[in-house]
Amino acid sequence: MSDRICEACGKTVLGGVSMGGILLCKQCDADIQDEIEQLRAEGKSVNVMRIARRMYRESHTRSQITINLQPELIDQVDIKARDEGRSRSNMAAELIKRQLAA
Ligand SMILES: [Zn+2]
Repeated sequence: MSDRICEACGKTVLGGVSMGGILLCKQCDADIQDEIEQLRAEGKSVNVMRIARRMYRESHTRSQITINLQPELIDQVDIKARDEGRSRSNMAAELIKRQLAA
């Protein structure tokens, strides 16, 4: 059997789970299930592939920045990020890039 790779973390999958047409390891499946539950509870559409891709990007991002923001601002970022199926860090990275390019 050839190596099967988890779409969310890029690791070799042993006894993984197939969901939404993609393959996930058990750890990522659990993480994604949590997120799916949350999205469904909010009546939002669920795109497993999109969540997996985002998780992959997050797990392969080495550098981290810690920024202190007001809680209200973080809430707003989280809401917008979730609406667009992105993570907080993904959204922050884009805003920073935009500022640097300006
Ligand atoms: Zn995984």
